[in-house]
Parts: sequence; C-alpha cells; structure tokens
Amino acid sequence: MSKPASTPSDPLREVEHAVLPVCDPATDQVVGEVPCQGPADVADAVDRAASAQPDWARRPTMERAEIVSEVGRRLREDDRALSRLITAEQGKPLGESEAEIAYAASFFEVAAAEIGAIVPEEIVMTGKRATIEYRPMGVTAAITPWNFPLAMLAKKAAAALATGCGQIVKPAEQTPLTAIRFAEIAASAGVPDGIIQILTGDPDPLGDAILRDPRVRRFSFTGSTEVGRLLMSRAARQPLPVSLELGGHAPLLVFDDADLDRAIEVTMAAKFRNAGQTCIAPNRILLQSGIHDRYVEALSRRAAALTSGRGVDGVDLGPLIDDAAVAKVETHVGDAEEHGGDIVLGGGRRSLPGLADRFPEPTIILGADPRMLCWREETFGPVCPIRRFETAEEGIRLANDSSYGLAAYVVCGSASQGARIAQSLEYGIVGVNDGLPAVAQVPFGGVKHSGFGREGGRLGLHEYLVPTTISRVD
Ligand code: NAP
Repeated sequence: MSKPASTPSDPLREVEHAVLPVCDPATDQVVGEVPCQGPADVADAVDRAASAQPDWARRPTMERAEIVSEVGRRLREDDRALSRLITAEQGKPLGESEAEIAYAASFFEVAAAEIGAIVPEEIVMTGKRATIEYRPMGVTAAITPWNFPLAMLAKKAAAALATGCGQIVKPAEQTPLTAIRFAEIAASAGVPDGIIQILTGDPDPLGDAILRDPRVRRFSFTGSTEVGRLLMSRAARQPLPVSLELGGHAPLLVFDDADLDRAIEVTMAAKFRNAGQTCIAPNRILLQSGIHDRYVEALSRRAAALTSGRGVDGVDLGPLIDDAAVAKVETHVGDAEEHGGDIVLGGGRRSLPGLADRFPEPTIILGADPRMLCWREETFGPVCPIRRFETAEEGIRLANDSSYGLAAYVVCGSASQGARIAQSLEYGIVGVNDGLPAVAQVPFGGVKHSGFGREGGRLGLHEYLVPTTISRVD
C-alpha cells in the first residue's frame, strides 16, 4: 500500500489520513481500519508506479510470467486466512470466499500462460513490411466493487502484471482489507515495489485525481452502470481509454424439455451465490409453460431450505452488504406485490439473534412483468422474479428486453437448441445448461449498459497492450 508522503505536521494531509473503519456486515463489528487518502496520495502513487513500471516492462516476458504465476500460487496458499478476511468484511459464506480465491488465482495462472503467446506479428506487403508489436500501456488504474473484493481486482491486476503494466487500485470502501492483503501477497511473490498500489478513501476525489493524471494510461472499472457512466465522462477529459464492467440483469430461460434437476442446479448456483449480490445472477426467470409449475415447486423447496447467518458459521446465505442493499430488495418486493406479483416464498427478513438485520429471505415472485422494478433493475439480493412464456421466440424477446447485456442462461434438453437460442441473446456471456459460465480462460464482459471491454483469457491481456505498427521499406 502506498505510504503517505507528507509529514504529520501538514494539517491538510492529517485530515486526509483520518482512518475509515471496516465493519463485518453480519455483526457491525469493526474488523479493521484503513487510511482516508486523497488526491496528493494519488499523485505519490502514480509517481512511484511511473518510476517502477519501465523496469518491470523490460523484464523478460517469461520472468514476469513466473512472478504472475507465483502470485496465483500464493493466493491459494494463503487461502485459510484470506477467506476469513473476505468473509469478515464482505459477509459471504466461507466456502464461497474459498471459491473466490481459487477463481482469483486462476486469472494469474491463465495470464502467466497466455502472455507468452502474444508475440510481434509481421505483415509482408509489396515493397515493404510492417511489424506489429504489443507494448504495455504503462501505468494503469482500477476501481473495484465490494461483491467480489479479491476476484474483481485479480482480473485487472493479473492482466496488468503479465503485460508489464503497473496498477493503482481503489477498492470499495466496504472491502478494502482484502485488496491491501492482496498487494502484500503480490509483493511477497516478487512483484516490485510501486507496481501494485492500493489507495483507500473518499471515492470521488480519489477517482477524480486518478482520471486527471496524464501519466495514467488506462482505466478499468467494475461497478454500477451509474458510477461507470460518471467515470467514463471524467476519463473523456484526457481522453483516457476505459473498460467498464457494469451492472447486469440476467435472464434465465428454462424450456419445456429441460432436465428439471439441471434447471434447479443452474438456478441455485447462479442465483443464490453471494446472497444474490452477483452481477451475473439471474434476475428474470423465464419459464416455458410446460415446466413452469414443476420448476416453481422444486425451486421453492430448495430455496426455502437455504440457511442464513454469519459466513463463518457454515450457512448458505450471508448478510447483504449494508442497509441500503436490504432496503432496495424490500422496495423491489413491495413494488412487485403492488403490481400484482404473487409472493409464493419469502418476502420478509430473517431475524437472527445477535446479528445485524440484513438477511432478506429467499423470495420467489410469480407473474413478474415489465412494470415491476425487479423486472427492469438489478435487485442484488436473493429474489427470483418468475414469468411464464409459450414459444421460444417469445422467451427470447422477453430475455432481450433489457438495457443490460452482461450474462444470460438457457436450460434446455438439446445442445443444438441451446446453441441456437444462445445466438439470439444479446449478452456478452451465455451459459447453456451452465450456472457458472465465468472462468479465467474465456473473455468476460457485457454489451449495452453492462459496459465494454473484456477480462480473462488472451483477449483480457490485449486490454493492457498497445498494438504499435513499425512499417519498413527494405
Ligand atoms: P458502485 O457503487 O458503482 O461502486 C463501485 C466502485 O466505484 C467502488 O469502489 C466505489 O467506491 C466506487 N465509486 C463510487 N462512486 C465513485 C465516484 N464518484 N468516483 C470514483 N469511484 C466511485 O458499485 P458497487 O455497489 O460497489 O457494486 C455493485 C455493482 O457492481 C452492481 O451493479 C454489479 O452488477 C456491478 N458489478 C459488475 C461486475 C461486472 O463484471 N460487470 C462485477 C461485479 C459487480 P466506494 O465503495 O468507496 O463508494
């Protein structure tokens, strides 16, 4: 983490370096504190990154790749302590924190394996030839959300490190401790000082200072569409290239010929992970008429059995991140009821002795329709709005009727039907009979208001590389 550069006698900087508490959302207990940094710290961090990055970029690719791969190995090695830290500040069940660590580590492993395959290309023309070199962009910056405090950062940092870039990261204020621990692990794996730095504090001045600094050459954001829009407009002042991983509003289509057990497994994996606080969680469940009743009965049984509590206590669902998140869930459920939705499961909160009041019940709403908030906006909670459809055309039309385009799911009996339906869906990621389509080997990202740019796989590395053409007449 970057150290404050000024002396404690500087009163302005003293105010900036007040501390911010970090609380466990399940208990409201303080689990740590971080400095409240400001624009002067951004300048210091960029200074350090700008002086360290050229050497890092000059290292032989395979030497860098070894260090990147070592970061992944150390994340896995630190699994026990790190998963407790993620659960403490984010709230998710410990098993999910462990899965997040494995997912995060895989980005370093894939980046290390893929970087060697990106080599200069030679184009021979009549009378001349051109070489296309892929050069690191330089100092980059990232702002990340709280729902996957390690993985969202890992996607960006793995690509930045493998390509020879430096990166300054501002994590979400609810979950900065994981990011700070990540930077320590990266340093222990051999990442040079200054190449990965974490800044914590008030997001607006920090983000503004990052986006104003001309030495920052790329900005990558994961978070809400609203904040993404604001930051993109600020990045346009330079202009600075951006990639935006924004909100999602995934449809899940289940066809009559689907295997019911498979359909429920896909739903459970995709919907209830992180208590529904996932950008690729299905928010609109579309059921073909022939399977509707059987699916609703089976899902109700499984969802009702989910347990809630502190993530360290072996439960299925942790708390929502804060009171605003709970209020949003309740607004969506209340609004659905007002518009004629039938709440067949849940709808309220689970009151758990000694814990904060942030545990909405798993909820199923039948008869959901486009007038309802839950059908138009991300709920980010354990709520399943369900709507019936008759023909494939109708299902596809309903699925595409959204300003978002991150992930979609299809559950059906035949692979060829699944592939056909997938081709008609306007989404960046489609899972066919697959509740976990996001893996490090493949590009991840959205279309429409879900943003642009890709993370993961070889394509994710190209986001941090500038193709440079050198044309020669021999
Ligand atoms: P958010 O409110 O947009 O915050 C995301 C990050 O932006 C946080 O670090 C936040 O800092 C920062 N931020 C907020 N206002 C800012 C400003 N004015 N200037 C600079 N930075 C600012 O989103 P969130 O609630 O953390 O995350 C949930 C959202 O992220 C959902 O919409 C979800 O779908 C989306 N998401 C998308 C993906 C994807 O890959 N597409 C993945 C995960 C999540 P503070 O925390 O300090 O406010």
